[in-house]
Amino acid sequence: MAELMKGKVAAVTGAASGIGLECAKTLLTEGATVVLVDRAADRLNTLCAELGPMAKPLVVDLMDGAQVDGMAAAIEALAGAPLDILHANAGAYIGGPAAEGDPDAWDRMLHLNINAAFRSVRAVLPGMIERKTGDIIFTSSVAGVVPVVWEPIYTASKFAVQAFLHATRRQVSPHGIRMGAVLPGPVVTALLDDWPKAKMEEALANGSLMQPKEVAEAVLFMLSRPRNVVIRDLVILPNSVDL
Ligand code: NAD
Repeated sequence: MAELMKGKVAAVTGAASGIGLECAKTLLTEGATVVLVDRAADRLNTLCAELGPMAKPLVVDLMDGAQVDGMAAAIEALAGAPLDILHANAGAYIGGPAAEGDPDAWDRMLHLNINAAFRSVRAVLPGMIERKTGDIIFTSSVAGVVPVVWEPIYTASKFAVQAFLHATRRQVSPHGIRMGAVLPGPVVTALLDDWPKAKMEEALANGSLMQPKEVAEAVLFMLSRPRNVVIRDLVILPNSVDL
């Protein structure tokens, strides 16, 4: 353990599963105090008990604006110190052509992938601006920079994340705050349960899936650069993915 994050307070949303969980574990290994934010209360509490005293569970439904608004204060109370790093990771996925899309599912996904991400950032930025330091990382997606034909709805949500992130980054960088995104291709998590079966079989056959660890290591790389350097977008793809 290099303890690259020693003394830091980090919060990871969507941390009870998949990419968020692996990122939280990596930050813990590197010495950070990590607040794991998720709505899956039972899973979150069990995980934090296993991960040890530096892992703090915070049950929040990110679809509930009032809960998100209270997040910065709740994180600070749990960690005993102000937040240094927000990893806005939680997100949902809908595949399939637009003509077959369910408008209610579209609304729910946009609410989580972009509205909740905006609201989480809004909750933590005033404190970071006051302290003149902070890091905000999004788990975006390669679908945030390349329109993916079989998932137009998801693609739209991640393009929105990228636009919000970069406009906000330009506004807050003079305050010493770094913002960036990790943009993975397909990663083996519960999210892929919503992929079409044929797509999954094809991906398995040609080795075009990654593990959450690949993303966690990329996030650690971004966070551990000298403070005058920002990695804005880090795309990670299996080499066999043709996008
Ligand atoms: P996952 O389904 O394994 O984990 C998502 C987590 O978010 C779960 O723990 C879930 O409980 C939590 N969550 C969902 N709705 C919530 C809410 N309203 N409030 C609080 N928590 C909520 O998915 P994952 O693959 O780890 O996805 C994490 C991020 O990575 C998402 O933003 C996703 O778009 C992105 N991503 C995933 C892939 C992939 O292939 N898995 C690729 C690129 C980007």
